[in-house]
Order: sequence, then C-alpha cells, then structure tokens
Amino acid sequence: MKQFTVTTRKQTDMVNITAQVQAAVHATGIQSGICTVFVPHTTAGVTINENADPDVIRDMLMEMNKVIPFTDGYAHSEGNSAAHIKASLFGCSLNVIVEGGSLQLGTWQSLFFCEFDGPRNRTVWVQVLGG
Ligand code: ZN
Repeated sequence: MKQFTVTTRKQTDMVNITAQVQAAVHATGIQSGICTVFVPHTTAGVTINENADPDVIRDMLMEMNKVIPFTDGYAHSEGNSAAHIKASLFGCSLNVIVEGGSLQLGTWQSLFFCEFDGPRNRTVWVQVLGG
C-alpha cells in the first residue's frame, strides 16, 4: 500500500490528487489492474469530477454547504456533524481502472480529495491490484 498527505486550505475544499495517485500507481510497477483510493477520515471524502473549470468545484462546495449547513441544531458534541454527513454522502473510497500503468480517466475527469472539516493535513491510501 502507498500513502501520501494532502494539505487542505479551507473548511470545505476539494484538492486535485490525480498526480499523487498516478505516482503511487507508477511506483507499484503494475500495468493492468484496479487502483483503490481510500480516505481514512470521517470528515473527508474522495470523488471524481471535472478538472477543467474550477467553478465546478466552487459550485459543488457551495451547494453542499447549503444542503448540509454548518449549524442546524446538531447533537454531536464535537460540532462538526455537517462534515460527517458530507463525508458519507461523497464516500471514503473509489476504484479506477489501471491500464498501461496509467489511471483510466475521462478527458475532463480528475480525482479530488474532499475536505469538509479543514483546513488540516490529511492522509490518502492507495492500493493497486494487478491482473
Ligand atoms: Zn465529529
């Protein structure tokens, strides 16, 4: 298993991690298989979405913060229930096909680490299975 760190800059943030994941895949030497990206946190997630127009990410975060507001009479004493809810909506892992040693993504697709309780330093785990 490979891992790397992501530093987020805002309370909610989406960071393009495609290059780090691709580097982890490359380091395995596996040419054909499946890459699993796993976020070992309860207030962050991972998703694939558009890499061309940064306004897509801006709009996604803006709407998520409207649908799941930061304060809404939550009971959880840590005060970050909105982040827990967003993390589960996005999910903590995804799989990408690896072929020719490269992540197989659409032209406009990138992998994004999704921060919902930042800013802070986070960890991403990557495992590649060949075959
Ligand atoms: Zn909490």
